[in-house]
Amino acid sequence: MAPPRLVRRSLGPLNVAWIEAHCVIPDGFDNGQPFLLYDEQALFIDAHYELKPTATLGQLATAFRYRRSLLVRPQKWGKGPLTAAQVCLEGVGPALFAGWASGGEVYDCRDHGCGCGFEYEYEPGEAMGRPWATPLIQITAFSEEQTGNIYDALRPMIDKGPLTELIPKTGEEFIRLPHGGRIDTVTSSAQSRLGQRVTFVPQDEVGLWTETSRMTKVADTQYRGLAGMGGRAVLTTNGWDPSEASVAQSTYESTAEDILRDFKQAPATLSYRNKVERRRIHRIVYGDSLKPKGHIDLDGIEAEAADLAERDPAQAERFFGNRIVYGAGAWLDGDKWDLRARVRQVPYGSTIVLGFDGSDSDDWTAIRAETQDGFQFTPRFGPDRQPTIWDPAKFSGQVPRLEVDAAVDELFNRYAVARMYCDPPDWKSEIDEWAAKYGDKRVLRWETYRTVQMHAATQRLHTDVTKQDATFTHDGCPTTGIHVRNARKSPRPNQRYVLAKPTQTQKIDACVTSVLCHEAAGDVTAANLWPSTVAYAYSA
Ligand SMILES: [Zn+2]
Repeated sequence: MAPPRLVRRSLGPLNVAWIEAHCVIPDGFDNGQPFLLYDEQALFIDAHYELKPTATLGQLATAFRYRRSLLVRPQKWGKGPLTAAQVCLEGVGPALFAGWASGGEVYDCRDHGCGCGFEYEYEPGEAMGRPWATPLIQITAFSEEQTGNIYDALRPMIDKGPLTELIPKTGEEFIRLPHGGRIDTVTSSAQSRLGQRVTFVPQDEVGLWTETSRMTKVADTQYRGLAGMGGRAVLTTNGWDPSEASVAQSTYESTAEDILRDFKQAPATLSYRNKVERRRIHRIVYGDSLKPKGHIDLDGIEAEAADLAERDPAQAERFFGNRIVYGAGAWLDGDKWDLRARVRQVPYGSTIVLGFDGSDSDDWTAIRAETQDGFQFTPRFGPDRQPTIWDPAKFSGQVPRLEVDAAVDELFNRYAVARMYCDPPDWKSEIDEWAAKYGDKRVLRWETYRTVQMHAATQRLHTDVTKQDATFTHDGCPTTGIHVRNARKSPRPNQRYVLAKPTQTQKIDACVTSVLCHEAAGDVTAANLWPSTVAYAYSA
């Protein structure tokens, strides 16, 4: 595509030409072919590199109209490859202002150590570009999986094309650039490296960057680092949940005039629930990334959106409709949970699995049990047959650890416990003791903060409660019922979610414990590890 020659003063025409001459398609049938930008992508680059009319040679970020840019597009539109291409540009391409052309000047790759033959002749009055001397780039996202998506596109984009001459080696962890520059990937866990002397920071999925995920702080740290170096950031996301107060939301709602907001939206009058209108919405927000010009198959997007909409309509509308939509709210229809309640006694000696979510002073601590045939219950213990759920408020603010320990001991004595999954924060030493006492094949740590695993486990219970031929039943434990009703879905990357409480006082711990317990049951079944009940039969 010929770069759009715009009347505005921007490095865009040079930058787009440079990207198309240097970056290659990283994967698929056309891998290794020139990476040609869609018009919408080219226009975004053009806008991000627009200069102030007053820009003077020597200025860095201050030469540009925008201090940072927010790009809001639906899933699969191509934000990742565009970000990778922009990383190449900021790494070794003409990303900085180098004065105004009087006409006839040429950007010649040979002047910058690249033998690809690329030349670009400036028009009179056009902005000229030059590369950073020592660029430091941090590809930043909520999770390593997310930074990996961009980084995995970036490496072949360099390796399979002309950039390999300038950047002969792309490492698994980071990429060294000429003259001491480098490209890193970071998440919130890399606090010490965040924002150090950075010149360009692509921040991905900022709709998920919230206070609770510690990503708001990450963003602020990086902006400070960029300000010190004269660098700039690009933020990418799809539509977000406005109840999450994300970085995407605050950036979009900010009154600052030096932030570019490129947010493709369909008219609000179109309903995402209506199939015909949903198609029109997709047509608008996917724009020229759609076939035949682009790589997106509209029918494929429709199918994926319909599939996700069945489970989570709000998420589907954010992801594929690119809209700002409040969260779907409840994780599970409380009435559907209640419908699975049965009256049943589980005799001592029965084989069960256990789930344990331990807390200290605010959240509750719970143990749930499940039989091989999928009956889940809150066991009772002690002389008063108390349920194994502890509200610290009833114990002068602290969960009674000795009592919990006694309950665990009683359960292991009275039942044949095939497996126990325990969420470790706050209770590591107790869990280690139980593993030592009852066997480390039976007592296992199961960290609920792992998004991928927790999402899958949560989905497993949800499915087994709601599916047509569900065999899952439970004891109707009132506390668990309330906690199930309290549980909300908090979005995470790649269409996943984790359970969250709606407010600090509305607890969900017994629900999380039910998820853990059901996961243990499913895993024991999958591994064929349910011992014969007869062998463990309790002889009273
Ligand atoms: Zn070149």
